[in-house]
Amino acid sequence: MIMKRYFWSLIQKFTEFFGRRKNGASVLMFHNVSDDISLWNDKSIAIKAESFEKLISGLAENEAKFEPVEKLECAVKNNAFIITFDDMFLSAYKNALPVLEKNGIPYCVFISEKYIGEDGYISEKEIKLLSDNPLCTVGFHSVSHKMFRFMSAGQAEKELDCNSLTEITGQKPEYFAFPYGSLYACGYRAAEPAKKKYKYAFSTVSARCTESQMIKKPYYLPRINVNEENYQKFL
Ligand SMILES: [Zn+2]
Repeated sequence: MIMKRYFWSLIQKFTEFFGRRKNGASVLMFHNVSDDISLWNDKSIAIKAESFEKLISGLAENEAKFEPVEKLECAVKNNAFIITFDDMFLSAYKNALPVLEKNGIPYCVFISEKYIGEDGYISEKEIKLLSDNPLCTVGFHSVSHKMFRFMSAGQAEKELDCNSLTEITGQKPEYFAFPYGSLYACGYRAAEPAKKKYKYAFSTVSARCTESQMIKKPYYLPRINVNEENYQKFL
């Protein structure tokens, strides 16, 4: 198991290294956004609220373009940014979304049924508000937030079933993000069932998203994890 994980993380590093591009959409992924580092269970997916604000205002000052996920095709052509959040931590809801709202920047939240209303995450009430918000797109992030690699076809099918979220928002989500999303946790083959159910699905393979990827693997598009360690490289 450890060897397999190591093997796939090596393959992912190669994929990311050879997949470096100057053009394409940068689909940025955030999780925990908090100045209180005691709330950081995993620092690889955490950024301070002040750093998030610095990043967004810095990008806006550099005249970066921001697009909603619905305009991914345009974003790919314009080298634009798409802002996404996974799991929807309460910290991101309270600290990051107001910054985006203030600047009129669109964003997408990927909700897993598992975390709805759990301690530290948003509940149905906030999800409803987000689904009515014109700047926000609500996407799905699986039923139980498990790695797709280890699922049978039937299980994967169940995990992609967004009925619970559709009931809350009244709209069927068109976008999906794989939990963990790495080549080890998911990979192309395990991601394929998403093709039938969603317009686009996202991995956590870190690269810019290009037109050819959208044609070849719309169910496993790259996305860039942003955290306290790396956010400055976007400025
Ligand atoms: Zn997640």
